[in-house]
Amino acid sequence: MAVEKTKSGKARSVRLYVEAPLVGGGEVLLTSAQAHYLAKVMRFKPGDTLSVFNGRDGEWRAAQGANRAMLTVEEQIKPQGVAVGPTLLFAPLKAARNTFLIEKSVELGVGALQPVTTQHGQIGKIHLARTHAQATEAAEQCGRLEVPLLRPLVPLSRALADWPAGRRLMFCDESGGPPALGALADADPAADWAILIGPEGGFSPREREMVLARPETLAVSLGPRILRAETAAIAALALWQAALGDLRAGDCGTIS
Ligand code: SAH
Repeated sequence: MAVEKTKSGKARSVRLYVEAPLVGGGEVLLTSAQAHYLAKVMRFKPGDTLSVFNGRDGEWRAAQGANRAMLTVEEQIKPQGVAVGPTLLFAPLKAARNTFLIEKSVELGVGALQPVTTQHGQIGKIHLARTHAQATEAAEQCGRLEVPLLRPLVPLSRALADWPAGRRLMFCDESGGPPALGALADADPAADWAILIGPEGGFSPREREMVLARPETLAVSLGPRILRAETAAIAALALWQAALGDLRAGDCGTIS
């Protein structure tokens, strides 16, 4: 729930993610943090309107009730689309870099977030509630209609052992490979995709071998420079979206 102001100093329209089902005339009970945000930060009065979404029922206009913890759902603004962005497998990073990676991945349409531990990863844990809150805030801010699923941290080997049948893997390999955009040019946009980004320390030779040996792997380069892991995640998602997703020429949805 970041406070967004436009240049004129006016607050931008407020969007909140809620868990409740959304139907016209229905009511939504806010969390105490949301109620506090509307009342104290955004200075909402009963009757003031905002947008709400829950990842299932599209986006709706809702009005603050006389009871500050309640919203009344008014009308649907956008129907729920089908989100098909790739799952991002990433090794957790130190605080600020991890926050950046989560926020930017959500903005770039990541479908799900799968943190993994790797041999050279420095961070062996991730705060799931905090990370979920960061993903939620990014979804609220960027106009997405769903918060990407955040999966619990597992070893990379476990994620590979439990690999869903048919899922393709864009393996971002700092030791080289064909440039991503070319490698993805003939790939199937209808397939289920994941992207794998290594830790700051890179992949171990064993991990590289293990990933490269798998039939679903498409090893790609992100160019001639070694990128920080969070930069690599952003570049990989942008390239995937440009080749197969909603940044394809002629396929850009507009934001209304
Ligand atoms: N310490 C490593 C770099 C790791 S960068 C080294 O010096 O070699 C972190 C991750 O970002 C990598 O594991 C890889 O997944 C991704 N990455 C960074 N630069 C890349 C590039 N040019 N091409 C492909 N992947 C890259």
